Amino acid sequence: MKAAVLRAAAPALSIEEVERPQVVPGYTLLRVLACGVCRTDLHIFEHDLPTVRDPLIPGHQIVGEVVDGATAELPLGSRAGVSWIGGADLTCPFCLRGEENLCDAPTLTGYTVNGGYAEFALVRSDFAFPLPSSVEPKYLAPLLCAGIIGFRSLRVAGTRPGERVGLFGFGASASLAIQVLRHWGCEVYVATRGDQHRAQAREAGAQWVGAEDERPPVALDRAVTFAPSGQVVVAALSSLRKGGVVAINAIHLDEMPAFDYDKLLWGERQIRSVTNMTRQDARDFLALAHEIGIRPHVRTFPLAQANEALQAVKHETADGPCVILP
Ligand SMILES: [Zn+2]
Ligand SMILES: [Zn+2]
Repeated sequence: MKAAVLRAAAPALSIEEVERPQVVPGYTLLRVLACGVCRTDLHIFEHDLPTVRDPLIPGHQIVGEVVDGATAELPLGSRAGVSWIGGADLTCPFCLRGEENLCDAPTLTGYTVNGGYAEFALVRSDFAFPLPSSVEPKYLAPLLCAGIIGFRSLRVAGTRPGERVGLFGFGASASLAIQVLRHWGCEVYVATRGDQHRAQAREAGAQWVGAEDERPPVALDRAVTFAPSGQVVVAALSSLRKGGVVAINAIHLDEMPAFDYDKLLWGERQIRSVTNMTRQDARDFLALAHEIGIRPHVRTFPLAQANEALQAVKHETADGPCVILP
């Protein structure tokens, strides 16, 4: 099969013929129909994350057709999706509580195991989710990481229908989360850098849109921050009503600036981090996305242009998520 392969010493992905993976018990082979390109892929590509597998096929927003290793839930020929959490031990104290997002020994798709920048991908059957065949695969791929984690962020923030919710930053994840918020009848306040992101937020129905250093004109019930910036977390915190919650949707954060406890955190305000996703988040979000009819504005690349897709994510030259079509 053809695959885009990352080698630790190479400056770019190389498009290669590699052996097609063989099904083993507990696994399903997917013919990849689409694979989303996530900012985390860029961090892996640029070795911001430590190299744990070399060579590696990246990609963790996989939409595929079941071609081998079918199960009752994933019959031959059906559609399935796989995300960043490609497996968990299911035995650690976190997994036993249904918090597989916190598992001590997770399998990470396109990082600790090969991912979806390829014609085929071998995935754990119990971490693959059925997807509708009626929707074009390119629209489903961005839902699998950006979408699910954005949804989890709204959950971690404790969002309820009709509330005032702030989104600080407006990339792929926020542009999907706002569609859920609008569906729930929430008022959405967006503070973000970039004219393009602000225009997208307005188009998506935000109540108020401002620059990254502007504050929403009302006190927020919930806020989600998407930028890897402690400054932005404090800005979000300072926009909350008493009892409000900031959820941080970022794997890394630069230094958190000192802030005034009495003014900003007192009053039972909370700051919470968002870590990965559970299978329940995935199932709930994918069902909701289908009900709402979420169709992200995607830019597609053939597998041969996987490097161009990564650069488009890096430089934010696409006005929506990037998706590779093998
Ligand atoms: Zn991702
Ligand atoms: Zn576990």
